[in-house]
Amino acid sequence: MSLLDTIIGTVAPHNCLCCGSEGQLLCAACLGQLPPVDKLCYRCQRPSPDSLTCSACRQASPLRSARTVTTYAGGARALIWELKFSGAQSAARIMARRLAVLVEKNAAPNTVIVPVPTATGRARRRGYDQAKLLARALSQVTRLPCRNYLVRGGQTHQHQLSRHARLQQLDGAFRAHHPRLVKDAHVILVDDVITTGATIEAAAMVLSKAGAVKIDAVAFARPA
Ligand SMILES: [Zn+2]
Ligand SMILES: [Zn+2]
Repeated sequence: MSLLDTIIGTVAPHNCLCCGSEGQLLCAACLGQLPPVDKLCYRCQRPSPDSLTCSACRQASPLRSARTVTTYAGGARALIWELKFSGAQSAARIMARRLAVLVEKNAAPNTVIVPVPTATGRARRRGYDQAKLLARALSQVTRLPCRNYLVRGGQTHQHQLSRHARLQQLDGAFRAHHPRLVKDAHVILVDDVITTGATIEAAAMVLSKAGAVKIDAVAFARPA
């Protein structure tokens, strides 16, 4: 996002992506209408208190929980589009305020926010990475440090792949950056959308191998 865009974004009022009213990118009324999600284990989709990974799935996953704000539809989808395709800081700020509610209060001093890097080809084409924008905005709201502890190798598109195929493709997609710093950290992974959970799980796997002691994930939306 250029400085000019930032200035225009600050000066010119937005119109609500849903109802068109002037003011915020998503007005308070439309924001209030985003449907809440059921609390599920991200892996088996069975109900689970606080969206914790169930004990059966924990055998295979280092992710302690994966929480989302709402479903990928309507206003949420419009916000994510703004973030992804216009790099809108205003969208990141609105989303981060909702994400912050999912982050446990009184975080321990070893807690860090880590964005799940977007596949490099796509991020390069657009010039920014939506997960990083979102993670930085969440860091500002929660005052927890944001660290780029994950790097991502080149990767092909993964639309329409099964969970298993995605996992295979993701194997080796991430690397830990500064693994020494990851050791003993409580990591809160941030992404815009969790679909099958395969991406976030692959990211968690890498951090777990690097010695992270606790790994949670938050995302703005998941499929309805
Ligand atoms: Zn509205
Ligand atoms: Zn489960």
